Amino acid sequence: MPTVNEDVVQSQFETEVKVKTTLVCGAGGFIGSHLVKRLKREGFWVRGVDLKFPRFSETEADDFVIGDLRDIVVCREAVDRGFDEVYQLAADMGGAGYIFTGENDADVMHNSAQINLNMLEACRRRNSKRIFYSSSACIYPEHIQRDPNSPGLAESDAYPAAPDSEYGWEKLFSERLYRSYARNHGLIVRIARYHNIFGPEGAWNDGREKAPAALCRKVAQAGESGEVEVWGDGEQTRSFLYVDECLEGTVRLMRSDCTDVLNIGSDEMISINGLVAMISDLAKMNVRLKHIPGPLGVRGRNSDNSLIVKKLGWRPSQSLICGIEKTYPWISQQVKIAK
Ligand code: NAD
Repeated sequence: MPTVNEDVVQSQFETEVKVKTTLVCGAGGFIGSHLVKRLKREGFWVRGVDLKFPRFSETEADDFVIGDLRDIVVCREAVDRGFDEVYQLAADMGGAGYIFTGENDADVMHNSAQINLNMLEACRRRNSKRIFYSSSACIYPEHIQRDPNSPGLAESDAYPAAPDSEYGWEKLFSERLYRSYARNHGLIVRIARYHNIFGPEGAWNDGREKAPAALCRKVAQAGESGEVEVWGDGEQTRSFLYVDECLEGTVRLMRSDCTDVLNIGSDEMISINGLVAMISDLAKMNVRLKHIPGPLGVRGRNSDNSLIVKKLGWRPSQSLICGIEKTYPWISQQVKIAK
C-alpha cells in the first residue's frame, strides 16, 4: 500500500504531466503578449521568446527567453520539448511607415524568413508537431485592392501572387514553407492571414503603429487646433479586428482539423476618414482633417469571412466601435503619461 505522502507525490506528478505546454514566439510583441495572457487563463504552462519583454505590462509567461530567433541555437533551446502548441508570431514588421517605404525591405525579408526557417527546423527536430503561423492580408495581390469598395479578399484570391510589399512576399514564402513542412515532415501546421489587428498595449508612437493606434494618438494629441493629419485623401478603406477576437480565431484554428489557410479579420470596412470620425466622436472632439502625403498601401481592403465560417463555424462578430471604445482610452492615457 502506498503511504499518504506517496499518494500526494503521485497526484502532484499527474497534475504536472497533464498541464499542457505552449511556446509563443514573439511573446514580447502586441498580439503575442495578449496571447500569453489568454493561454495562461486557459491553464497552459507558457514559454515566451522575444528580443524584448512586453513594453506595456509584465509578461504572464512562466518562462520568458530573451533571445534572437534568427539564431538556430536560440530556437533549438526554446524548443526543448514537444510542446502541445507552438505559436510563431515573431516577425520584423511595423505599420505602413515601416513596411511600405522600401527602406527596410532587406531586413523585413531576411529577418522574418530566417526566424521561420529556424523555428520549423527546431520543431521538426524535437518532434514538436503542432505549430501556428501568423501570415497577413498583405499577401493578397495589389491589383485586386484598387477599389475602395473592395468586396473582400477571399483566401483563393492569393494566386496568381502579386503582393504590394516585400513584407507580403515574405509571408507568402513562409506560408509555403510551413505547408512544405506539413507535407514532407508531418508537422500539424495551422496558418491564418491576420487583417489589421488592434487594441490596447500595441505600438502607438514608435513608427510601427497601425492606423487605429496612430489615429487614436493623433486625436488624443489634437488639442485646441483640432487638426489631425491623415495620409493621402483618407478615402482608402480597411477593416480592423480587435485583438481578443483575433486570439479567439487563432486558438480555434489551432485546435481544429482545418489545414486551409484562413483569413482572421473583420468584414466591417471603413475609410480612414471614417475611422477618424468614429474616434473623434468617441473622444467628443471636433477635429479638422489635414491630408498630407504619406505611404498609403492598397486602396481598399476587407476580409471575406466565408471560408472561416465554413471551416470553423465561427467568425469575428464584434463591431469596430467596441474595440475602439477599449483602445482609445488606453492610448489617450499613454499620451497623458508621455507629456
Ligand atoms: P509585433 O511587432 O508587436 O510583434 C512581433 C514580435 O516579434 C516583436 O515583439 C519583436 O520583438 C519579435 N521579434 C522580431 N524579430 C525577432 C527575432 N529575431 N527574435 C525574436 N523575436 C523577434 O507584431 P504583432 O502586431 O504582435 O504581430 C504578430 C504577428 O502577426 C507578426 O508575425 C505579424 O506579421 C502578424 N500580423 C500582424 C498584423 C497586425 O495587424 N498586428 C496583421 C497581419 C499579420
